[in-house]
Amino acid sequence: MSALLERAKAGLPLDEVHIIDVHGHVGPWRSFYIPDTTEEGTLRIMDRIGIDRAVIFSNAGMGSDHVLGNRIVADYIESHPDRFIPLVFPNPRYPDEARSEVEHYCGKLGWRGIKIHPTGNQYPADGPNYTPLWEYAEAHGLPVVCHSWDNVLCNARVFERIAKRFPGVNIVLYHSIKPDFAGAAELARKYGNLFLELTDVAPHNGLIEWLVSEVGSERILYGSDLGGWFSPLHGIGPVLYATISEADKRKILGENAVRVFRL
Ligand SMILES: [Zn+2]
Repeated sequence: MSALLERAKAGLPLDEVHIIDVHGHVGPWRSFYIPDTTEEGTLRIMDRIGIDRAVIFSNAGMGSDHVLGNRIVADYIESHPDRFIPLVFPNPRYPDEARSEVEHYCGKLGWRGIKIHPTGNQYPADGPNYTPLWEYAEAHGLPVVCHSWDNVLCNARVFERIAKRFPGVNIVLYHSIKPDFAGAAELARKYGNLFLELTDVAPHNGLIEWLVSEVGSERILYGSDLGGWFSPLHGIGPVLYATISEADKRKILGENAVRVFRL
């Protein structure tokens, strides 16, 4: 049995592997109850599992207050710069502010990338208000992580247009365009700057094995909707149980994130 799986089944934190959860939500959210949105609560579950670091961004950015949201992320970074990797979350509905938020946090403070959520902000990922942000990311070597789903705002066709137009941007597709995993895999094979992320793939038995065989483990990143949307236990279990090599698991759990986010 996989040594990592054995350790997890014994209830022990996975201390001997570098784990980065690339999908962490931070702060209050407007649409449903989150039992624990505190920084301490997030760190507690990370330590329980053995997650070394988490890529984080604000919940408020998915609503109307991206300025507040980015400030909440800044508080996390101030108290635990060694545990959290910050992304700025611009809302394209406020294009001038969006641009200045990105310039402030990435340009001045060195945050590691940009998070966008076309469904939350009800704005297509390839819409004109996002263009300056994609251009900024390309000019500054920043990754963009994006909620992706099989809808008109962020489906495979939208990302094909973006990948073609901005080949220099590492793009992480959260949820791997669920449920269009075939479309996501086809795109990732075609465009080397696309990476697939695993949040909410747990109900799809055999999917991780299939993605590894289709696009290679170096293009797949572990993420969980950490921070109260889902428990990270829900996300890491399928990786640990997947019938792939231990080396593939290590890439998915952390090694790839080091490369994609230039850590
Ligand atoms: Zn999410």
